[in-house]
Amino acid sequence: PERSVVQINDVIQSALALQVYQLRVDNINVQLELDPSLPLTIADPHQLQQVLLNLITNARQAMADRGAGTLTIRTALCNTGAEPQIEISVADTGVGIPAQHLDKIFNPFFTTKPVGQGTGLGLSICYGIIQEHQGQIWAESREGVGTTIFIRLPLVEPRD
Ligand code: ADP
Ligand code: MG
Repeated sequence: PERSVVQINDVIQSALALQVYQLRVDNINVQLELDPSLPLTIADPHQLQQVLLNLITNARQAMADRGAGTLTIRTALCNTGAEPQIEISVADTGVGIPAQHLDKIFNPFFTTKPVGQGTGLGLSICYGIIQEHQGQIWAESREGVGTTIFIRLPLVEPRD
């Protein structure tokens, strides 16, 4: 993994660019609320793009069956913890996740999708990548309303 100075807003834009066509086909409206003064982080931009792609794909699949939806991606500087962090959220208006599944979705091979549509690996890969970046990832969801995935990343690589 190659780490460099990364502007997360740019990573989000390039992940979205790869999905623009499919999002349009699925009638999904994209709302971007990217903090223009978001600080830089030190990260592997390809790995972070993979995380965003997995989250956008899940969001799209959760909304596709409903015929339309809204994908909202936000970035912000989060100052509530001991160290400032970058917060990314990916929110959809899809089918949602049942409460009894919420603690399983990051497990490898957990999927509710038909064979051939889901491997159950996407979120476990996201989890591993965010862990390697000393960050946190979690989900909040309401069945029938939608899902938001939150990510927090350090501004600079912590020394260890
Ligand atoms: P896959 O997409 O291959 O099933 P993931 O690891 O990406 O595997 O996701 C695991 C499971 O978590 C999905 O099968 C689905 O049940 C649930 N899930 C993930 N993201 C969402 C979402 N945005 N909306 C609803 N359910 C989701
Ligand atoms: Mg997936």
